[in-house]
Amino acid sequence: MKTIKFLTKLLFPGACPICGEVQEQCVTGEDAARICPSCEKMVRRVAQPFCLKCGKPLGRSGGRREYCSDCVRKKHLFVQGRAVFVYAGVARGMYRMKYGNRRDFAVTFAREAYEALGDWIRYVQPQALIPVPLHPARRRKRGYNQAELLARELSKLTGIPMERGLVKRRINTSPQKELNVAERKNNLKNAFQISKNSVHLIKVLLIDDIYTTGSTVDAVAKTLMLAGIEKVYVLCICIGGDDQGGFNYGSENL
Ligand SMILES: [Zn+2]
Ligand SMILES: [Zn+2]
Repeated sequence: MKTIKFLTKLLFPGACPICGEVQEQCVTGEDAARICPSCEKMVRRVAQPFCLKCGKPLGRSGGRREYCSDCVRKKHLFVQGRAVFVYAGVARGMYRMKYGNRRDFAVTFAREAYEALGDWIRYVQPQALIPVPLHPARRRKRGYNQAELLARELSKLTGIPMERGLVKRRINTSPQKELNVAERKNNLKNAFQISKNSVHLIKVLLIDDIYTTGSTVDAVAKTLMLAGIEKVYVLCICIGGDDQGGFNYGSENL
């Protein structure tokens, strides 16, 4: 274990999870990586006012609105969702965490999530953290599931167990980003499946990297609720803004 830790540190001595620059304090000390000062200028953390349902920032035009335009139109199956960053500022890091084998970025992003949403997680009191699953074929190809890396780190920080085998992806859906809303929904129909006979959980927290329309987490929530789970909450590292309309943020967990 020590050797693995040492090698990991040698390979990734602690880098900014956005630009990938190695950070001095991580090479010399035990400090974990942070977003570097120059990337920090570009990053926007989700702050009030945000949508009470999905957590999307409502922007300056938010005024006294409680929900984003998307949540006004559509009923979500999850109870409430929260996110840490607005997508645009962290897009580069998200992409590299997901497709560029930068698994180390997940450690920093999870810690950011814990710092921003630790109180909310304690308030929600989920019994388990559930990463949005990848289809086994896709996971094999990539070698990991970034949502699982995030959930694992968050589990260490919160002490809440991660349940990664509970729900499976049985259909290798085509990338969400190439589809319109109706196609997305159809694409996800029955995409998930419970893999256990009995589920003893009542309240869980779903973990994913990106929240766009919420169709992925809704599809997972539906599966969990059919298995008897009553309340599904959602935590994503980043989310789009309400003012950006149909802007394509890239794919939800695929
Ligand atoms: Zn940076
Ligand atoms: Zn919303």
